[in-house]
Amino acid sequence: MAQQPGQAAWSIIDAKALGRFMPPVFPGEKSDSIEGLAVQLGLDPEKLAATVRAFNAACRPGTFDHAVLDDCRTEGLTPQKSHWARPIVRAPFYAYPVRPGITFTYLGVRVSDRARILYQGKPSANLFAAGEVMAGNVLGKGYLAGIGMTIGTAFGRIAGTEAAHAALG
Ligand SMILES: Cc1cc2nc3c(=O)[nH]c(=O)nc-3n(C[C@H](O)[C@H](O)[C@H](O)COP(=O)(O)OP(=O)(O)OC[C@H]3O[C@@H](n4cnc5c(N)ncnc54)[C@H](O)[C@@H]3O)c2cc1C
Repeated sequence: MAQQPGQAAWSIIDAKALGRFMPPVFPGEKSDSIEGLAVQLGLDPEKLAATVRAFNAACRPGTFDHAVLDDCRTEGLTPQKSHWARPIVRAPFYAYPVRPGITFTYLGVRVSDRARILYQGKPSANLFAAGEVMAGNVLGKGYLAGIGMTIGTAFGRIAGTEAAHAALG
């Protein structure tokens, strides 16, 4: 997806996939046909229909289970969809715009426990950091749900308090 023009893509599902994943924030586009969906998305209807046909033809029969890494996969597609691959055939069809994102870089500036930026190992008197730019101090790898907001909130409060103290002398 990151290699696509504008780093933009569409996630297309059919009626049987609804309710199988976390509800999207935005409603997306809906149509009774793939060609109709393409028109709504500003895509070439023939090309999109051919792409979906190729995907459907590549789906191997399996036992669908969205709660585990099931055996529903594609064969002959690059990249392969290794699980949860089911033909997109049941109307209505839905499309959601998607983009790649970096949840955490695990990098950033080093800070003290008072959110003071460490410069050459020493805590700065008047430079503070909170949130993603210093999340690497907390996260080495992986993460818990909500930890981005937690780091931002907890260290934002600490950094704000410390900055106010620094400003007041
Ligand atoms: C796809 C995705 C999903 C995520 N899901 C979750 C989740 O479910 N739960 C969770 O807790 N965390 C999640 N995170 C992580 C979380 O969103 C971030 O850790 C958090 O938003 C970081 O907040 P922040 O205020 O530090 O930085 P940001 O939210 O990145 O804010 C930085 C702001 O600074 C602005 N800015 C940059 N440069 C300048 C400049 N020179 N001048 C002025 N403004 C500037 C930017 O435009 C931006 O608005 C997710 C992240 C991504 C990308």
